[in-house]
Amino acid sequence: MEFKDLRIKIIETSKLMLKLGLTVGTGGNVSVRCSDNDRFLITPSSLPYETLKPEDIVMVDINKGTHEGRNKPSIEYQLHRSVYLARNDVRAVVHAHPPIASALAVSRKPLPLITDACTIAFKDKVRVAEYGAPGSHELAINTVEALGNNTAVFLSNHGILCTGDDLDTALERCVILDKATLTYILSLLAGTPVCLKPLTD
Ligand SMILES: [Zn+2]
Repeated sequence: MEFKDLRIKIIETSKLMLKLGLTVGTGGNVSVRCSDNDRFLITPSSLPYETLKPEDIVMVDINKGTHEGRNKPSIEYQLHRSVYLARNDVRAVVHAHPPIASALAVSRKPLPLITDACTIAFKDKVRVAEYGAPGSHELAINTVEALGNNTAVFLSNHGILCTGDDLDTALERCVILDKATLTYILSLLAGTPVCLKPLTD
């Protein structure tokens, strides 16, 4: 089996995403770019994360959009594919439905850089992609546009998407985004949040 270690890592990341409360049921999806750069592996559609096996993970050709494996890929595989096509630097993508960060996705308000953790995790304020139905071409296009060269983006009335050099980083950014959103909402109640500038490379 090709890329067995990456397949196992996807399953571990998916289970952790569930355990951390970043999604429920079979919601969300996790992918990682293969070392050949031309393909990525992604969680299958509608299968419980707890019982996934390495052979359940689906391989997608980034340029052709074709997929191989015994299962259908996640409904959002074109969303992941669009990110990999637009961003050569991205090696892993986690899309989740965390309850607190989703509040900003529903309000369609960006998250400013409010803490030092934010300035390290995100290149700039986290923007909100215009609405696109789940699995749609619009969702993919709008997400890539709002993501820009950042590492995270809100999906209107849906959830979040975070990128990384690896799966651990992408998942950690989901957690940081959810917790920072809570801090941001509380800071609005406490007064006027003072925001930070992006770090320069
Ligand atoms: Zn979703």
